[in-house]
Amino acid sequence: MPRVFNFSAGPATLPEPVLQQARDELLDWNGMGASIIEISHRGPEFMRVAAQAEADLRELISIPDDYAVLFLAGGATTAQALIALNFADPGQAVDYVLSGHWSKTALKQVRPYVDPRIAATSEESGFRDVPPPSSWTLSPDAAYVHYTANETIHGVEFHDVPDVDGAALIGDFSSSIASAPLDVSRFGVLYAGAQKNLGPVGVSVLIIRRDLLERSGQPRAEILDYRAHVRGESMLNTPPTWNWYLAGLVFRWMLDEGGVEEFARRNARKAALLYQAIDGSGGFYRNEVAFGARSRMNVPFFLHDDVLNAAFLSESKAAGLLALKGHRVLGGMRASIYNAMPEAGVQALVDFMGDFARRHG
Ligand SMILES: *Cc1c(COP(=O)(O)O)cnc(C)c1O
Repeated sequence: MPRVFNFSAGPATLPEPVLQQARDELLDWNGMGASIIEISHRGPEFMRVAAQAEADLRELISIPDDYAVLFLAGGATTAQALIALNFADPGQAVDYVLSGHWSKTALKQVRPYVDPRIAATSEESGFRDVPPPSSWTLSPDAAYVHYTANETIHGVEFHDVPDVDGAALIGDFSSSIASAPLDVSRFGVLYAGAQKNLGPVGVSVLIIRRDLLERSGQPRAEILDYRAHVRGESMLNTPPTWNWYLAGLVFRWMLDEGGVEEFARRNARKAALLYQAIDGSGGFYRNEVAFGARSRMNVPFFLHDDVLNAAFLSESKAAGLLALKGHRVLGGMRASIYNAMPEAGVQALVDFMGDFARRHG
């Protein structure tokens, strides 16, 4: 059975060569006679896999040496809560920029620990735009500034790293990490759940400027303490070895394909193709996001008549285009076109959309 083009927002499509390699190695990793997921994380075989994954990620997104990298169990939401415990004092001010569903979730996670201030919000526009960094009101006493680089549900993205005038900038890159070159040195912390652009759900990647690790006065158990995780090389307890291994295969695949520069070009072409199909449909389809804030990764769109939604979903599925239903918060449709979505997949979607509009227009 041929694989379909899968537009799921997360867990999301993975590169086919990665899945094939994982399948080929599943029962017997590297002649060991056992699977990589059946052995100790502290043995030399898994330690090699783990170290290679970190080295490849460092190369892939050019992580400077004064940043630690963690591969931890738990999703991005867990990281959102732990950020307050690890980078702010109890009750300290922290600045949050609200640009959609996930930045609101991030804010909610820290309320028990700190004093979150809303530095800016685009909620009054229905999150159809991002608050321009020039409009952010930053608190001088804030421990950090948190923003969401790409809003997976609302389909808005910051295309440039905001200038926060020396404050520690924390970015949620769950749905856009490694999709284009990024100057990591502009950040205090970058984090991402793996299941959109990096691999399978169950592991999160954190990239932390080392000096920030000593800043927090929050009491916290060792297992919630990023300092301890850095000292323990993400192995304080049993790490999610399968997820770490698979993410490592994705990093290697991306490097072999030409790295983030190449993926930035592919992602720009894919997004342009899809937005052109929407904008050029004579109103049959529409995307409501301000032009300058349109996401390259998640494209929500609506049909001119909601009555056609069910037909669009069943016909697209029959055409081998999976998971186009929009998030329940917005309704309509959403196409997630992460790194692993081939250009042929977006072309197939655009062809289907044109054909559907002709038949139902
Ligand atoms: C998916 C997502 C999250 C939540 O990730 P979980 O792994 O489900 O906790 C947070 N932020 C963004 C931007 C996301 O896309």
